[in-house]
Amino acid sequence: LTQVECEWTQQLNRWVETFRPYSTEGKCATYIPALAEANPEHLGICVASEGGQALKAGEWNVPFTMQSISKAISFMAACSIHGIEQVMERVDVEPTGDAFNSIVRLEAHKPGKPFNPMINAGAITVTSLLPGKNAIEKLEPVIDLLEDILDYRPPLNESVFKSEWETAYLNRSLAYYLKQNGVLASPVEEALEAYSRQCSIQITAEDLAKIGLVLANDGLHPYKGTQVVPRKITKITKALMLTCGTYNASGRLAAFVGVPTKSGVAGGILSAIPPRGRNNGPFSHGCGIGIYGPAIDEVGNSVSGILLLKEMVEQWDLNIF
Ligand code: GLN
Repeated sequence: LTQVECEWTQQLNRWVETFRPYSTEGKCATYIPALAEANPEHLGICVASEGGQALKAGEWNVPFTMQSISKAISFMAACSIHGIEQVMERVDVEPTGDAFNSIVRLEAHKPGKPFNPMINAGAITVTSLLPGKNAIEKLEPVIDLLEDILDYRPPLNESVFKSEWETAYLNRSLAYYLKQNGVLASPVEEALEAYSRQCSIQITAEDLAKIGLVLANDGLHPYKGTQVVPRKITKITKALMLTCGTYNASGRLAAFVGVPTKSGVAGGILSAIPPRGRNNGPFSHGCGIGIYGPAIDEVGNSVSGILLLKEMVEQWDLNIF
């Protein structure tokens, strides 16, 4: 994306320095040990708009792993392959208000169909639906879709994958429970491994901004002109991001930020702002936002990243409501 130097970029730079110190109010995730190695003071943002123009500030090009943000990609891939109805036979689209890795509702609501694809139980179920005889093959449709959007095949961070794979006790419990109830469409360890691998795909804030822009444009690639995801699927994905995308803070974010957003525990934030036919500078035709700030709060969202997003959305009038 072409970096545009303008007053908007200068403003972004100022906000990055304003919110960077708030990282001390959070902590890098430690339950996946490799994530604890990130620099908690990093904060970067990229805002992509029509035609491949972008505003960038801070550590916008520091690589990190997608983690939960990959759930939006695997959901779009599974729906593109099987159709929405078939995916919805196994996973619902209702918010939970529980932690992303919560197990409680699987038992409470027999037969344990996960509430939505943005919580771990739902995401592992979606990944189990991806075609392929093993985990590596199951990952292909996710990487293929990312390649369509990003124009390169993002790599896997092997050490983060290994770290998650060795410590995924809770995800293993969720997956075995789902299998027992007939929800998983593939062998347990295969779905789990593919899920852990998709979480370890390494990208940057700039990449997230591109994904956001494709979502903002209802699946139409902003400078290739190709439809990379069917329109209807992007609409459902954006609705899920708004209602379930930031875990048990999704309601608060919808109310006080007001943009479809998906976060990950490595500190990434993906937002999509659809065009609204009004003239607000570079954003008149919608935009995609990617943010990276690895110090997260107790829910799992980047502390300085969310503050930066909130300020920007307020000041630049991007709230979709
Ligand atoms: N890989 C992480 C997990 O399954 C992703 C969680 C997240 O980003 N919230 O626990």
